[in-house]
Amino acid sequence: MTPFPDTAIGSAYRSTAGWDLLDTLVDLDRMAGHDGEAEAARVLAEALREVGVDGTQIQPFEIDGWWRGESAIEADGRRFDGSHEVVALPNSPSGDVSATLADLGHGTPGAFEEHDVGDAVVLATRGAPEDSPWVQRWEKYGRAVDDGSVGFVLAGDADGCLPPTGHIGAPNRSPAAIPSVGISKEVASWLRRRDLESVSVSVSAESRTAESRNVEAFLGPETEREVLVTAHLDAHDVGDGAEDNGLGCATLVEIASLLAPLEEQLDIGVRFVGFGAEEIGIRGSEQWAATHDLDRVKAVMNVDTAGTGRTLKLKTMGFEGIETAVDTAADALEVPVAFEREVIPDSDHWPFVSRGIPAATANSVRETRGRGWGHTHGDTLDKLDRRDLREMAIVLGAGVLELANDDTTVRQVDPADVRDAVPEHTRRGLEASGRWPF
Ligand SMILES: [Zn+2]
Repeated sequence: MTPFPDTAIGSAYRSTAGWDLLDTLVDLDRMAGHDGEAEAARVLAEALREVGVDGTQIQPFEIDGWWRGESAIEADGRRFDGSHEVVALPNSPSGDVSATLADLGHGTPGAFEEHDVGDAVVLATRGAPEDSPWVQRWEKYGRAVDDGSVGFVLAGDADGCLPPTGHIGAPNRSPAAIPSVGISKEVASWLRRRDLESVSVSVSAESRTAESRNVEAFLGPETEREVLVTAHLDAHDVGDGAEDNGLGCATLVEIASLLAPLEEQLDIGVRFVGFGAEEIGIRGSEQWAATHDLDRVKAVMNVDTAGTGRTLKLKTMGFEGIETAVDTAADALEVPVAFEREVIPDSDHWPFVSRGIPAATANSVRETRGRGWGHTHGDTLDKLDRRDLREMAIVLGAGVLELANDDTTVRQVDPADVRDAVPEHTRRGLEASGRWPF
């Protein structure tokens, strides 16, 4: 293994580069295609340069951008339209619909089978009942559309008046088919307490072609193969995108800052990439994967919301070489890592993994299931602690150093093997939303 020097651990403790970047990012509207996303790309590139990583490039690409207007839900003479009650879901078309409410609980496939939804407005809570597999938002939305419903309402699953946001519809079809809003758990329970004749959902929003961009910078020797360290730089326009994913960008910069002085110890090159437009359908990483020679990519370490706690959770997608490298590095630091091996399509590792390229996504272990504050107004800087960021930077920095070691073997696989490893409930969800890539 490549030992991770004490000086690197010491500088992780003192470094302010990541936190300073985070502090800047949270004040920008980094929704894909918005001006703040372009500014985020610029400040991320600058932060990478400042910690000593050169060759910064910004690569623009076209997306379907989305801008919110007003949205509301009305029933029984009451109108909810405050920003902490109702938010339009990104990619929702503008529209005004009134219909009966079909309450599908968590919107599991079973619930859709039991109900004849017809032309109702579907209400489904985020996530899944305890002990059953997570059901993605896009699957619930896709089933609602397939069943002929006229509106889609996603309810929050946590207390605190926090309507969830999240892109709906296919990544490359804009706008989506039916008006869709997120409502807080509290508004959902108000609706569920009533026997409603009718509920109205209204959304005004604008969809138009826009530009997003990926940022990259390079460290170490020019070699045939490289390790990628990645994080998405866009965010939702609800909340500050502090944990999702200002934190990932901050961690990326901290890893760069730890590895820059160790450049001589890198057997192969390390490329740092900030992806745009992750939140509207994993567009930046798909763009990157589709336009680069992936045989050059030895492994991808993607950081999405790592740093919400001090213990690393690494989703390895079953790539043993990545697990071994990070486990070796963590053992030497005497810190635990929680490894998850299930193949899941929920972040920027997916365009690589679905092509057989070894990629993992780093989160932190959470006390409770689900997304935490992510995708709500509650995703703000005050919830975060820079000591957690340090811990993530150290263990991930040491892990990346190990992945860049010539003696570390990480094998590409046949995409058909990935396809066969996707759990049935995940496959169903991808198919129901037109995202199955195989
Ligand atoms: Zn994210």
